[in-house]
Amino acid sequence: MSRETKKLGFGLMRLPRKGPFTDVEQVKKMVDLFLEAGFTYFDTAFVYLGSEAAIRKALVERYPRESYTLATKLNVMLASNEKAARKQFETSLERTGAGYFDYYLLHALMSNNYKKYDKFHLWDFGKEMKEKGLVKQFGFSFHAGPELLDQLLTEHPEVDFVQLQINYEDWENPSVTARANYETARKHGKQIVVMEPVKGGRLADPPAEVKKLFEGYAPQMSCASWAIRFAASLDGILTVLSGMSNVEQMEDNLSYMKEFKPLNEEEQELIRQAQRLLGKSSTIPCTACHYCTEGCPKQIPIPDIFAADNKQLGNGQMAEAAAAYEKAAADGRRASDCIGCRQCENACPQHIAVVNRLKQCADLFEG
Ligand code: SF4
Ligand code: SF4
Repeated sequence: MSRETKKLGFGLMRLPRKGPFTDVEQVKKMVDLFLEAGFTYFDTAFVYLGSEAAIRKALVERYPRESYTLATKLNVMLASNEKAARKQFETSLERTGAGYFDYYLLHALMSNNYKKYDKFHLWDFGKEMKEKGLVKQFGFSFHAGPELLDQLLTEHPEVDFVQLQINYEDWENPSVTARANYETARKHGKQIVVMEPVKGGRLADPPAEVKKLFEGYAPQMSCASWAIRFAASLDGILTVLSGMSNVEQMEDNLSYMKEFKPLNEEEQELIRQAQRLLGKSSTIPCTACHYCTEGCPKQIPIPDIFAADNKQLGNGQMAEAAAAYEKAAADGRRASDCIGCRQCENACPQHIAVVNRLKQCADLFEG
């Protein structure tokens, strides 16, 4: 990498909203704070609704191009043929106005879609864009196990970096295999961009026992700080993406990442205790990425329903959970309206048994 990147990246998947639109004025403030603190890495994607256009207004049109680095991604699931897939690159360039991408990724490779990236020759496309100078570093984001990761990195030694889901809850989680994936990427000598360090906000508001553990040790530190510092403390990390949704979250992240200190041994032990507590928790490991909702024929607000259920699973807050469920699940879009087509399960990078979980939610909240 040509210059050192600080270990906090601004993930642009969960930008603040004002009604149905992105709150660009608030994003501008967040961008200003982030750059002022010396951070440079921004991460968007073709599929993040409104995100590429928002970052054009909040960043690209307001700062010199060389003062930041921008990553975006091509998602084959939205392309019916090779031409349409390649077209995403042009669209991303148009939407962002960035002229080129510092980092370009094939998006969310999993066992059920990676062959389509081969079929559409998108690895070659990445190389081509690099040769043209339109991409500086080429990589992919990944949501499967170490065997497939090893296969892809062996078949494509040209990739510069890989983006992995790494957080302390999923470190040994058999359906995420964060540790094994991390070790595989390291074996191949790749730099790693961390995604979901806070697991879609879950680890910013963990179950009560975990919260108590962290607050007992350092009451002034947020729960999110533990999650981000855990990921940033690993060797070989290029940056840790935090999907910040408001100025307060930005300020919190900057407060401990500006002068980043890796976790010491005592703090690592606390993380191990939190891992043991979470291992006993039965909450739904949804990161609210919304990949499942796009194709749902019943438009069921799956992540909002799961967030409601987690209130009672994690903290025993049944009244709050029921209220959140009623707010999320309008008539015709309730958990019991699911027809079991499993489109959502094929799209879910966390491999959640959505249909079964929705059935449990329907029994709990509607029964
Ligand atoms: S299985 Fe249910 S929730 Fe999933 S996409 Fe189909 S209708 Fe929607
Ligand atoms: S159920 Fe899966 S795909 Fe849907 S929002 Fe949660 S993690 Fe994302």
